[in-house]
Amino acid sequence: MMALLFAEIIILGTALDKILHYSIPESMRETVRPGSMVSVGLGKRRVAGIVLSVGESPPDLPENITIRPIHEDLEPQPVVPEDLLALSRWIAEYYFYPLGEVLGFAVPVREPHKIGALRDGPRIRMVRLSGKTPGDPRMAESGRHVLQLLEQSGGELPVKALRQSIRNADYWLRKFEKNGTVSIEDREQAPLEPSGHETASGPGFELTDDQKLAFDTISRHLENPAFEPFVLYGVTGSGKTELYIRLIETALRNGKSALVLVPEIALSTQIEAIFRKRFGPLLAVWHSARTEADRRRQWAGILGGKTRIVLGARSAVLTPARNVGLIIVDEEHDPAYKQEDRLRYNARDVALMRGKILGIPVVLGSATPSLQTVHRVGVEQYRCVQLPSRILGRPQPTLEIVDMKREGARGAVLSHRLKDAVGQVLTEGRQAMLFLNRRGYARHFLCNACGHILQCISCSLTLTYHKKENCLRCHYCGWETGLPERCPQCGHAALFAHGFGTERVEKELRLLFPNSKLVRVDRDTMDSPEKLIEALDSVRTGRADILLGTQMIAKGHDFPGVTLVGVINADVGLQVPDFRAGENLVQLLFQVAGRAGRGEDPGVVILQTFNPGHYTIDSLLKMDYDGFCKTELESRKVLQYPPFSRLLKFLVTSGKEETAKGGAQLLAALCREKAAMLKDSGRHIAVLGPSPAVYVKLKNRFRWQVFIKTWQSSDMQSFVELVIESVKNHPDYRGVQITVDRDPASDI
Ligand code: ADP
Ligand code: ZN
Repeated sequence: MMALLFAEIIILGTALDKILHYSIPESMRETVRPGSMVSVGLGKRRVAGIVLSVGESPPDLPENITIRPIHEDLEPQPVVPEDLLALSRWIAEYYFYPLGEVLGFAVPVREPHKIGALRDGPRIRMVRLSGKTPGDPRMAESGRHVLQLLEQSGGELPVKALRQSIRNADYWLRKFEKNGTVSIEDREQAPLEPSGHETASGPGFELTDDQKLAFDTISRHLENPAFEPFVLYGVTGSGKTELYIRLIETALRNGKSALVLVPEIALSTQIEAIFRKRFGPLLAVWHSARTEADRRRQWAGILGGKTRIVLGARSAVLTPARNVGLIIVDEEHDPAYKQEDRLRYNARDVALMRGKILGIPVVLGSATPSLQTVHRVGVEQYRCVQLPSRILGRPQPTLEIVDMKREGARGAVLSHRLKDAVGQVLTEGRQAMLFLNRRGYARHFLCNACGHILQCISCSLTLTYHKKENCLRCHYCGWETGLPERCPQCGHAALFAHGFGTERVEKELRLLFPNSKLVRVDRDTMDSPEKLIEALDSVRTGRADILLGTQMIAKGHDFPGVTLVGVINADVGLQVPDFRAGENLVQLLFQVAGRAGRGEDPGVVILQTFNPGHYTIDSLLKMDYDGFCKTELESRKVLQYPPFSRLLKFLVTSGKEETAKGGAQLLAALCREKAAMLKDSGRHIAVLGPSPAVYVKLKNRFRWQVFIKTWQSSDMQSFVELVIESVKNHPDYRGVQITVDRDPASDI
């Protein structure tokens, strides 16, 4: 008799953080494996779960519990490849998050019965235009639409695609087939194996010597796969993207697939176009803005191995790409890699772990690598390959500083120098890009009689004035209010606007340059991805003369016509009470400066600042990122901040201030107890706090924090969950919410 088989299963997408046991019926023995998706009974419900492991010996369970059989095997092959399963387990443990929910991110299909629909047969049904299309003017709109779509796509389309865009496509297809307008046939799907021909369809230029050296160094690890993090350190325009492409081509030739992470969707559009051209149908673009159905289809394509390159924002690192041989993280320093709600992971760090599990190279590309990465290069954990100069010897832009303290008129937005420079660029028929990382019209309203600053009623944030709507708005919760005539505190009619944002700069620029076309890009003007793409496109194609915007314009865009970049206030961000403020600001400003002179003409960057001597501004002026890193790392070392230690932040929130504070106090006390115990065994943990968060109130919840600092990553593993449970079980603090943020990206 054959031995019974048992499976350990975790239920998908729930916080039920418990491994359950089921037996595997005879009929499923061939198919149920780790990573399989199955449907099982849980109480009276039927739910989808992922198999973690399969074994022969029955689990050690109490007598009264009977093991139920798995109800159904939902997919013939595992939906979570082995490496992704191991990665998910690591994520759950490292970020203190329920495994079922982590797997829920990796498997975007919730209802078991739907997954069958994802199985695509090997044939696909195609519709093809047979000859001349009838120009019948009486034909209904949808019929014309069918023909139009077919014409636009070269006369041929999958039936499925037509059905998705046109509601009564079937009606028209029957009609057109009958009158001979189209023919419909089943076709073998073209095998999507990369042929040399298919992937080498890009520009045939030779790699530069620097690119070649970088390519040889990294590709060696594609031929003899081993985990190795590479930092590709190259200024903007030095040919990093081209190098990614060549490395991916090599991986594909070796029968492997590739994962490519980019920080944001707006950025991914440009790289998407380049990749699309080079890799065609082998490319899957993955980002969170897609519709549910679209995501599911992409996911099934990745799972089935139809697509071989997954390009996407951070969650792409959790896609079930098979046989991954190369992982690339572009702009690895970007804060957008950190997810700031629910599962607070950093996709760059998760990508490194996936590479480690797989034993493959991981390429971290950046013009301004994160201090963590720079530090790890310093201690020889990562290897650094450099692309020190721009392609074709295009010069780096020249930088100038304008000391705004000397600009005379108080509150001046644009210095004489910057105005002149913009005027000159426009006369020459070129483009200017102006950057200000603050939206709205005025920064805040302040009462000149009592000093009161108008604040949001639910958050501890000052309200920003928006002139177009003539309202005050909270940039955190979106609450709006009209402008009061009198100060709500002292009753004097002495409220004045202070500071300025992009809306105000736009007004000034329009007065100064009435005949130029200006586009403003910030969260207020760009309320859809389409608008953003259109705006960026108008700059790229030269339809716009001036691009004004917040950090939305800073990243990754290639505007060959832009020869002048103006940073309107280089100090925004410096006053943030966060030890990472300097790093974030410098990286952002280097990015912005890198937008100047991407084309044939050399660029100029003008920085307006009130702190011309500050070391961040100084390193920028000299274009000396290495120098900045050295100074910054030295000061972090003195204070033992990351990367010289590791942080974990507990955020305790409650609708009542006392509860949040008391819960945080108890939490800190419990952490100190544990730290004292661990100290006896020679391990060092520092507990900081509790303290009110910088924004102590957001959306009417009060927020208190406790930090723990360790020097050995594993030291916090033993007690974090224990102390959270203790606080939550305390009768006074039942209502508090406690979130854990490992390697937090900000103190706010
Ligand atoms: P980065 O990603 O570092 O900003 P890109 O890879 O986008 O740089 O390269 C900048 C420009 O130079 C692009 O237009 C690209 O097509 C071009 N380019 C890259 N490598 C070469 C090369 N070896 N020879 C000629 N042009 C190149
Ligand atoms: Zn608010």
